[in-house]
Amino acid sequence: MEYPTAPVKKIQKEMHRHAKVIKVDEYGTSRGCSRCGGKCMGVKFPKQDKEGVVKLSRSHQVVRCSSNECAMCWQRDRNSSINHLKLLMCMLRNEERPAYMRREHMPTIRPSGVDKLGKR
Ligand SMILES: [Zn+2]
Repeated sequence: MEYPTAPVKKIQKEMHRHAKVIKVDEYGTSRGCSRCGGKCMGVKFPKQDKEGVVKLSRSHQVVRCSSNECAMCWQRDRNSSINHLKLLMCMLRNEERPAYMRREHMPTIRPSGVDKLGKR
């Protein structure tokens, strides 16, 4: 399904006329659980097709925290909005982003016996 694109520049220009606008890097805001910092995963619900066969279908609106202690189910945009607010508060307080929304450089894992150039 394709969605129409939003007139982002027009909206930004209009918002600047009425308020102070602070841009926030949205990295990790959708997949991080705003309650515990765990990773949110898509949720599948049973859905009946035209022939009456029930199959599991992924919802794009609902995510669930993968942490068993938290296990929070979120409406995706609500979770993301709370994370955006957390990022804004960090920026205003001059604090670091929460770890679960940082761009971490993951070390490259290479099979043993292979050097950086891929030679044995
Ligand atoms: Zn959680």
